[in-house]
Amino acid sequence: MLRNALCFTCALLLAMACSDDNDRRGLGDADNHANNPADPNNPNQPVDPNNPNQPVDPNNPNQPVDPNNPNQPVDPNNPNQPVDTNHPHNTDASDSDIPWLPTDSDNVPNLDIAREMPLSFMPPGGLSVAKTPMFIVLGYDDNRYEDGMQWVLDMMLQHKNPAGSGNDATFDGHNLKASFYFTTDALDDGGEALLAQWRRAVDIGHEAGNHTHTHRERERETPFVWQEELTTCNSILAEKLGIPRNAILGVRAPFLDFLAPPLFDTLAAGLDGIIYDCSIRHDPYGDNPENWTFYRHVWPYTLEKGLDVFTAGGHAIGNPAIWEVPCYSLPTSGDRAGMRQPQNMYTGFDSTAYAEGYSASDFYNAMKWALELRMAEGDNRAPLTIGLHSDTYSAQNTGYSQPLAERRAALADFVDYALRTYPEVRFVSTKQLLMWMSHPTPLP
Ligand SMILES: [Zn+2]
Repeated sequence: MLRNALCFTCALLLAMACSDDNDRRGLGDADNHANNPADPNNPNQPVDPNNPNQPVDPNNPNQPVDPNNPNQPVDPNNPNQPVDTNHPHNTDASDSDIPWLPTDSDNVPNLDIAREMPLSFMPPGGLSVAKTPMFIVLGYDDNRYEDGMQWVLDMMLQHKNPAGSGNDATFDGHNLKASFYFTTDALDDGGEALLAQWRRAVDIGHEAGNHTHTHRERERETPFVWQEELTTCNSILAEKLGIPRNAILGVRAPFLDFLAPPLFDTLAAGLDGIIYDCSIRHDPYGDNPENWTFYRHVWPYTLEKGLDVFTAGGHAIGNPAIWEVPCYSLPTSGDRAGMRQPQNMYTGFDSTAYAEGYSASDFYNAMKWALELRMAEGDNRAPLTIGLHSDTYSAQNTGYSQPLAERRAALADFVDYALRTYPEVRFVSTKQLLMWMSHPTPLP
């Protein structure tokens, strides 16, 4: 059972030069599973199939998103959206290929992406699942090694998204894009050579995100430290990468440790241009506990009503006016019914997958199964976010038992498989995903 290895993995990974998100998340998982309300084995779970207010039933007339409702929150002119949409969030070159976005007088794209997006198991804008792109978001944390960065950038440049009908609004034929959540003190050791790769990523059009300055352990954190860690990271990224501070839209907490002291208190207070978090694991959930056929994932959503307790546990994080882009769990088989058991899923990060005793092909299969489940009849094609570390693909990282060549092959082969198998697949950055969700555009 894969997750039994986690505690051992924690000790293993903590000893590695590369600080890792998932070693600690593995520890946290034990707690999360005990309290996870979506766990059918948890007698305390609050999931009541007869509760008309539960948010996950697509046939529930009380569900918050009605595709026929003209007041649905995808209206860019909605005056109630929580963030000033005239605010120039971003000027990086990757936006120049998204012509449907309006721009301000300085020709800065107005991303307009922090409006309210209620929790939903269906694509935004009333789009049918069949017309919805299958988004895959690769998010690379830490990024401490030049050669790891270089390898992932080169690997992604070998591909383009499917040609589709040539519509920029669905990223047809575009270069693959990803999100890099940088830990900025990595530049202390990595120097100019590492910085050159970070700049190269941004020049290609990948997204630069915030993974704090020093990647601290939670014991040393205070709310003040959160503020300092995040703002210092933003300052260094802006200065070193030559991008506006408010071009940095997203945060991933070190070790996915968002709870104590609360990351979200800091984000709720407003922090530069940060409009999304991607630190919280979400498990799939069925439309009722007896019918696991439709066990599936919630779409990214905004947090006006807090976190979805059904798929993310009962964590109290307040109601910050930002997006939550889930870290989805990955399955250990392609059997949808098996996903009802927490032990058949794990936090969807490469480092967690590479527990002792597991092979690179196990990780390849997990990514493949996660994609196939989303593409299956009856699923909702929720985005597939996969947590990665460019450091995992570095020759300088000696902390894994799986050979470097096999780790690289697993990721490269998955990218190749996804693009070769499904013309609906689009590899995008988190920022691009949220842009699309704000301007949902169907496939032909
Ligand atoms: Zn990390």
